[in-house]
Amino acid sequence: MENGLQLYNTLTRKKELFEPLNGPNVGMYVCGPTVYSDVHLGNCRTFISFDLIFRYLKFLGYKVRYVRNITDAGHLEGDRDEGDDKFAKRAKLEQLEPMEIVQKYTLGFHDVMRMFNTLPPSIEPTATGHIIEQIEMIQDIIANGYAYETNGTVYFDVEKYSQTYNYTILTNRNLEDMMANTRELGGQDEKRGRLDFALWIKAKPETIMRWISPWGVGFPGWHIECSAMSAKYLGEEFDIHGGGMDLAATHHTNEIAQSEACYHKEPAKYWMHTNMLTVNGSRMSKTAGNGFMPLQLFSGDHPLLTKGYSPMTVKFFMLQAHYRSTLDFSNDALDASEKGFRRLMNALSLLEKLVASDSGEFEIEPIRLNCIKAMNDDFNSPVVIAELFEAARIINTVYDGKGRITAAELEKLKVLMQEFVFDIFGLKDEESSNNELNDVLDMVIDIRKSAKENKDYATSDKIRIGLQNIGIQLKDSKEGTTWNKI
Ligand code: AMP
Ligand code: ZN
Repeated sequence: MENGLQLYNTLTRKKELFEPLNGPNVGMYVCGPTVYSDVHLGNCRTFISFDLIFRYLKFLGYKVRYVRNITDAGHLEGDRDEGDDKFAKRAKLEQLEPMEIVQKYTLGFHDVMRMFNTLPPSIEPTATGHIIEQIEMIQDIIANGYAYETNGTVYFDVEKYSQTYNYTILTNRNLEDMMANTRELGGQDEKRGRLDFALWIKAKPETIMRWISPWGVGFPGWHIECSAMSAKYLGEEFDIHGGGMDLAATHHTNEIAQSEACYHKEPAKYWMHTNMLTVNGSRMSKTAGNGFMPLQLFSGDHPLLTKGYSPMTVKFFMLQAHYRSTLDFSNDALDASEKGFRRLMNALSLLEKLVASDSGEFEIEPIRLNCIKAMNDDFNSPVVIAELFEAARIINTVYDGKGRITAAELEKLKVLMQEFVFDIFGLKDEESSNNELNDVLDMVIDIRKSAKENKDYATSDKIRIGLQNIGIQLKDSKEGTTWNKI
């Protein structure tokens, strides 16, 4: 605790002490999903990572305003302001209105986030709901001399901007190399410079999502929405801006440029980027078509899956990796996470049944301090999980009568588990929320009790062994019979 929260800042390429701009109030902006299709597990990994960060900041006592946008317009297929609009294309394919597509996939996204037990953001603004703010920002950028209009489309002037500011501040790339690696402008191009990008795009006759602007009818470029909405809800300067690592080179680089060209200030003090979820080493992406959808994973309905995994197993699998490491998706890794998660949940179900002793050999404070130290070290969730397994070992040892714990330490153990497993990791016990199973087992345990009272040991053994064969172990004690999964 004494060293405070250290987080890795992409902007400075090192871990830094977290010192918010406005004391206990923290502003965090995370680039949300583009809702023209279902989110895949890679997208989920990024949102789960920021949920962990949001929850931990709250745990530390900060009042966090967490803004996560919904991109529902202005996203073309090509990264270089070309190609079809993704929403219009999908709308045609599904024979729906583009805003029906937006609605359908926004609701689907919310469902998935709820299944993963993530907290909703404080504000979830949409690009289409902030067209006026985007137009105003573009006007300011033009007035400041960093953008120009050609034939109804407005471009950001990267060369002009680079004379005063550092366009590659986030990725530390070399501007000349970037120029050399970008396609040369052709005679048809309206852009002045190779790296210039669109702030506003002129509508084609067939464009459905279109708005009136000072430059004619069109729609906003992809990057401007985040600059306009983060400034509106968090101010011109705020604490944390995040997203997946794939966004740093283009989207976030352009966001910084837009905000500086408009307000002459860097928008965020800390830039945080999550690493990619990969499949056989390749990044999971919507365009590559290697995306696993959460529902496929939960049901096991996918050619590469041997079975389904519950949302909490998948979340636990993600938390077992640090957010800045890549994480490769495989059946084996998920199987291991499933076992680990069950071990933790079993221990938690026994925690309520532990009986304290007058003296004991276990101390919980060192475990709690290690958990806090790990989280303060750039949200090191895998180290916290190792500590939670140590706590689970203590629970099992006391439950099995092979160790003793005092009432005070038992209370600390309960607080530790509540804080880290439920409040900070946002995990939940899916088995214990399965009330039907609980009810059935209560009934079976009751029948076995009656059988024993009637000295019908054949029936009572049959029940015990039968349950054991399907992975449920009964344990008899003075207080009665309890069960846990093995
Ligand atoms: P999109 O809907 O494509 O705009 O992406 C939503 C969020 O998911 C962005 O923050 C991306 O950086 C992130 N993302 C995309 N692919 C992956 C991946 N394979 N692993 C982790 N995050 C990803
Ligand atoms: Zn964004």
